[in-house]
This record gives sequence, structure tokens and C-alpha cells, in this order.
Amino acid sequence: MDLKALIREIPDFPKPGILFKDITTLLQNAEGLRYTIDLLAEKCAEFAPNCIVGMESRGFIFGAPLAYKLGIGFVPVRKPGKLPSAVHSIEYDLEYGTDCLEIHKDALQGGCRILMVDDLIATGGTAGATARLIQKTGCELVGCAFVIELKDLNGRRQLPDVPIVTLVQY
Ligand code: AMP
Repeated sequence: MDLKALIREIPDFPKPGILFKDITTLLQNAEGLRYTIDLLAEKCAEFAPNCIVGMESRGFIFGAPLAYKLGIGFVPVRKPGKLPSAVHSIEYDLEYGTDCLEIHKDALQGGCRILMVDDLIATGGTAGATARLIQKTGCELVGCAFVIELKDLNGRRQLPDVPIVTLVQY
């Protein structure tokens, strides 16, 4: 299936110069959505994860059904102030300023094998920060999966030496 044909491109969103990859057109296509989750499951099963960590908010959309398909749990990484119980936090640099991500301290048991899932890897800032957050929990990151990779931005360099699956590259 040609996934690129289902991903809409919106120029100058959310700001001038950004070519936004809109996955809502993929999500609304029944065959496209099923194919995406099935393909991610096929490519990631060999990492033998026992938990998926997905980043707010589009990481939830792909991460939760992938966890269901693999028969494992799902743990959300969220923006500050959204998670109700005690959290680990990580700050990371943006183009201008910093941002922060949080995960529940008790969400992951030591020894967990984590698969990180998001819709897209661009600069890798979000994924790199999430990898450091997972490190704080004492769990092992065994792989990362993204539907889309923007290759020119070389986000992979922000990630530790683990297998990285991407379904569509630009
Ligand atoms: P980054 O931290 O630079 O790798 O950016 C990753 C996050 O920003 C992902 O969660 C994406 O949802 C979003 N993102 C970055 N660039 C784009 C883009 N061109 N189109 C759609 N989403 C993007």
C-alpha cells in the first residue's frame, strides 16, 4: 500500500516554511490505518517489547493500537501538568526556549523492554528527550518506531543505539 498517497502535505503550517505532514487523512482511511498498525507490529515484534511508550499526542494514536496488536501495555508521555500522579520529568531544547515531557514514576517496572512510538521523527528532539526519560525509569529502550521520518533533519542522531523502524521517508 502506498502510505505516502494517504499522508496530506500542508505548506506553511503551523508556521511559514514548515511542510506539515498531516496524518489525519491516513487515519480516516480504514485500510490505511489497519495496514499501518499491522506493518508496525510486523517490523517491531522481533524487538520483543513488553511495553510501548507513546508521546503526546499523535504517539498515542499509533502507540495504543500497536500495543493492543502486540498484546502489551501502553504508557503515555505527556506535556507538563497533565499526569495526575508522581512523575519523572525531562527538559529539552527547542529552536527557541525549552520544553518538558513527563511520565508517571510508577508506570514502568524495572526490567521493562520499551518500544517508543510516535507519528513522525523530525529533528529527534522529542524522541531523544523521551529516550532520556525512559532511562530515568531504569527500563531498557529496545526499539523506536515512527510512521514518518524526515531524513534531512537526521533525528536518528538524537537516539541511542537501538533499532529504528520508519515506514515512510521524505
Ligand atoms: P522533532 O522533535 O523535531 O523530531 O519533532 C517531532 C514531533 O513534532 C512529532 O511528534 C511530530 O508530530 C511533530 N512534527 C515535527 N515536524 C513535523 C512536520 N513537518 N509535520 C508534522 N508533524 C511534525
